[in-house]
Amino acid sequence: MKKIQMVDLQSQYQHIKEEVNSSIDQVLNSSAYINGPLVREFQTDLENYLDVKHVIPCANGTDALQIAMMGLGLEQGDEVITADFTFAATVEVIALLKLTPVLVDVDAKTFNIDIDAVQKAITPKTKAIVPVHLFGQVANMDAILEIAKEHNLFVIEDNAQAIGANYTFKNGKKQKAGTIGNVGTTSFFPSKNLGCYGDGGAIFTNDDDLAHTIRGIVNHGMYKRYYHDVVGVNSRLDSIQAGVLKAKLPHLDSYCNARRNAARFYNKAFANHSNIITPTATSYNTSNCGEICAVCDCHVFHQYTLQITNGKRDDLHQHLLDKEIPNAIYYPVALHAQKAYKDSRYKESDFPITNALIKTVISLPMHTELTEEQLTFITQTILNFLAN
Ligand SMILES: *Cc1c(COP(=O)(O)O)cnc(C)c1O
Repeated sequence: MKKIQMVDLQSQYQHIKEEVNSSIDQVLNSSAYINGPLVREFQTDLENYLDVKHVIPCANGTDALQIAMMGLGLEQGDEVITADFTFAATVEVIALLKLTPVLVDVDAKTFNIDIDAVQKAITPKTKAIVPVHLFGQVANMDAILEIAKEHNLFVIEDNAQAIGANYTFKNGKKQKAGTIGNVGTTSFFPSKNLGCYGDGGAIFTNDDDLAHTIRGIVNHGMYKRYYHDVVGVNSRLDSIQAGVLKAKLPHLDSYCNARRNAARFYNKAFANHSNIITPTATSYNTSNCGEICAVCDCHVFHQYTLQITNGKRDDLHQHLLDKEIPNAIYYPVALHAQKAYKDSRYKESDFPITNALIKTVISLPMHTELTEEQLTFITQTILNFLAN
C-alpha cells in the first residue's frame, strides 16, 4: 500500500504533469513572471467557471480577505461578525484593519456560523458578516443574506475551503460558493481544493464599482500608473502560479467528486457507530442530503471531520499516528480563547458548540488520490481502536 498522506499532492501532480509543466514552460519562455498573459487567462477561466463578473487574483487568501474589507470601505470601530470555529486568518485581518471582530458560535451539524448567534450579535455598529464555508460546506446563505438585507450589512464569504461548491437557494436557484455575498475570497494554498505550487489567492464580486476599487488596492492604490488615489497593498498572483492554476482548474469538478467519493466511503464505514458522528452535507433548502447524495454538490470536503464522542479523541489521534495514518485536529483552540483575540466581551456560555467541537473533532486524510485500499485501512484501524 502506498504511504498514506493527509494531502497527496505528488500523486496528483503525476496525473497532470504534462499540462502543468507546459504551462510553467510557457511562463519561463516568455519571462513574463509578473502579470503575464496566463494571469489574465486564468482570471477569465475562473470567472467563467464560477459564473461571476469579476475575479481579482492576489497573493494569498489572507490578503484576499484584507483587501475585500478595505475595498468595502470598512472603518476603525466597525463591527464584523464571524465564526469562532475557523482558521485564524479571518479574524486576523479584521483585527489588523482595526475593525472590531465579533466572534459567534457555530452550528453543531455543519460547523458553519450559527444563524441565531449572528442575529443576537448585531448592534448599531455592525457593518459586515463573514461566513466561512468551513471544511468545504457552504454556510446557510439564504438566512445570512436575509439578515444582511434587514440590517444593511455587507456579506464577505471566506471561500478558502469551498471553491467549486454549489449553494441551492430556497427558490431552487444554484450559485457557486464565493459569488453569493457582496464579495468572496479564496486561497490557492497548495493543500486547498484548487491549490497552486506556492501562495495564491483571489477575490470575487459581481459589483463593477467594488471590482474597480479592489483592482487599485491590490496594486498600491494605483488606478493610473504612478498616481496613488488610495492606500493600497502589493498583492499579486505570479504568472507561474497562474499557469499551474490554469492547468488545474479544468480538473476541479473531478477533484471535488473524488473528495466526495472518499467522504462517502468514510461515512458508510462509520455509519451508526455509537462513538462517532460523521459529517453531513446539508442542503439547507432541499430535503436533507445527509447521505452525500450523488447530485448534491453543496459540500466539497476540503476536510473530512469526525466527532469522537467517547472522550478518546486524543488517544485516537496518537494511535493513528503510530499506525502511520496522518490526521489533524482542526481546530484545537476556539478563536475567542486565543491569546491574540481574547476579549472581555466574550462569555464561555456563548460558545457551547465550539467549546465542544475543539475536544471532539478529528480530520482524516482527504485528497483526490485516496485508494480503496488506503480508505479500508484507515477506517478499519479506527473501528478496531474504538472497539477496544
Ligand atoms: C487557508 C485559509 C485562509 C488563508 O489562506 P492563505 O492563502 O493561507 O493566506 C483563510 N481562511 C480560511 C478559512 C482558510 O482555510
